[in-house]
Amino acid sequence: MTDPTALAERLAEVQERIAQSAVRSGRSADELTLIVITKFHPVELVRDLIDLGVRDFGENRHQEARQKAAELAADPTTPDDLRWHFVGQLQTKKARQVREYASVIHSVDRPELADALGRRTSDRGSVEDDTRTDVFLQIDLDERSSADPSRGGVAPADLAALTERIVASESLRLLGPMAVAPLGMEPIRAFMRLRELAEQIRAVSPSSRFISAGMSGDFETAIEVGATHLRVGTAITGSRPALP
Ligand SMILES: *Cc1c(COP(=O)(O)O)cnc(C)c1O
Repeated sequence: MTDPTALAERLAEVQERIAQSAVRSGRSADELTLIVITKFHPVELVRDLIDLGVRDFGENRHQEARQKAAELAADPTTPDDLRWHFVGQLQTKKARQVREYASVIHSVDRPELADALGRRTSDRGSVEDDTRTDVFLQIDLDERSSADPSRGGVAPADLAALTERIVASESLRLLGPMAVAPLGMEPIRAFMRLRELAEQIRAVSPSSRFISAGMSGDFETAIEVGATHLRVGTAITGSRPALP
C-alpha cells in the first residue's frame, strides 16, 4: 500500500522541482507535461494520483495498461480527461489494441510499427476510425555497438527514413523524438544529442516541436535541454513493487 500523504508530498516536490528548472532555463512550466509512470503499481495508485490532480499516466506493458485503462473507464467517478501514454516496447500485432486506450504512443521505432498504428481499415477494408494518433519516435542514443536491442529505439542513422514514414501517414501525428539517457552516458550529453536529432525531425516536420525525455534521475537536466514531456515514475510513486 502506498501512503497517500507521502505520495502527495513526493508529487508536490517533483512539481516544485519542475517549476524551478523551468524558471532556471527561462521556460514556461505550461509547456511541460508531467506524465506519471505507474507501471507495476496497482490501479489504486492511479486513483490516488487522480485525486491529487494528475491526468497523464504512463505504462510500458500492454496487458497491464489495458487492464488499468479499462478498469478506470468503467468507473463513472473517473474524470473523462485522463490520458494514457504508452512508453514501452510495442509488438506490431498489438498496435491496434494499444491505440484504443492510449492517447500518445512514445515508442514508435520502426516502419512496420508506424504502418500498423497508422492503418485505419480492417482486414475487410472498412474504415475503422478516423482519429489521428499522437506518436513520439523513439531513438536509441547508445553509441556502443553492444547496445541492448530489446530496449528499443531507432538508430540515429535510420531517423530520417522513419520520420518520413510517419509524416507520410495521414492518421499519425508526429510530436517529436523520445529517448532514455543510456546507462553510462551523462544525461546532459544524451539530451543535447537528442535535441540535435529533434531539430533534424523539425526540418522535415515543423509541427513536431515536442521532446519526450527525462525520468526520475534526470528530468531537471532534460528540462534544461528542451524536453516537453517528462516521464517520471519512482520519484513520485516510490519504489516499484516486483512484477505483478
Ligand atoms: C519506467 C520508465 C520511466 C520512469 O522511470 P523512473 O526512473 O521510475 O522515473 C520512464 N520512461 C520509460 C520508457 C520507462 O520505461
